[in-house]
Amino acid sequence: MHAYRCWEETKIADNFVERILYLLEQQHSQTLSDQVSIYENLRKKIEIDDPSIETEIFDNAVTSIYTAGFRSETAEKYSTKLLERFGLNLQEIVDWGEHRLAKEIGMGRRKNKKVVELCRYIIHIGGVTPFCAWVKSLHSGEDAFSLGPKSDEDFLKCLGYFQHFPVDTLTARFFDRVGLLKYAAKKYDTVINPLGTDRYERLHELMIRVYLEAGDTILRIGGKEYPVKNNLGLIDILVWLHCNENKRYREESICRSKPLCKKCNLTTHCAFYKRHM
Ligand code: SF4
Repeated sequence: MHAYRCWEETKIADNFVERILYLLEQQHSQTLSDQVSIYENLRKKIEIDDPSIETEIFDNAVTSIYTAGFRSETAEKYSTKLLERFGLNLQEIVDWGEHRLAKEIGMGRRKNKKVVELCRYIIHIGGVTPFCAWVKSLHSGEDAFSLGPKSDEDFLKCLGYFQHFPVDTLTARFFDRVGLLKYAAKKYDTVINPLGTDRYERLHELMIRVYLEAGDTILRIGGKEYPVKNNLGLIDILVWLHCNENKRYREESICRSKPLCKKCNLTTHCAFYKRHM
């Protein structure tokens, strides 16, 4: 017998966290399924060292580097510019260096320095599919080039490694708005200092703890079953779809900076809605 409960079977579950996730999944099931399929196809290619995936990994990595502090759409635009100019000619990027790249591509010297470091690292790995090798090392927790602790989790999740669970401003805002932060703070006797230097780590830990309360359930996506426990990245994708600010996912974007509560499945459970509507 299956060890997990299905959200479809439990319908509105007793557990507060399961209830929130169930309703979210109902709202975004089709787009979630589409995204998961895209990410899993990327992972399949990485796992078999398919050379055709190398450019896409590089593009994702550069976007991730450029995203910090910027909207993802802006980062995507500049990443495309870099790829169009240099392709996978990594040595040329290294030769240009961060100062010239910042002038040619934009996005500042510091971010381009990271791009140059990544290119040097990949050149050092060598072989036909060095980007695939890097992703697999990073996922396995080996000593590999890091995009940054937050960025690594998001990068890997978007390549189909759903064990990885990032936290960003939007998903943290949702966690707070809907009432999960208050719920967790009380339940686990935890205070997150918004100005604390360890804020990200503490929030990351707390969010994982809370979402793992739904760990014994499964998500059914595109006919496949995913135990939540081993796929917290899927929860992040689900929440991110709900609260994203990216024009590409405009239809899914409900809990945006000015939330569209009238379109939201969560009104009866959401602390923000109860306070403001
Ligand atoms: S009810 Fe409004 S504030 Fe609450 S999750 Fe939905 S959109 Fe966000």
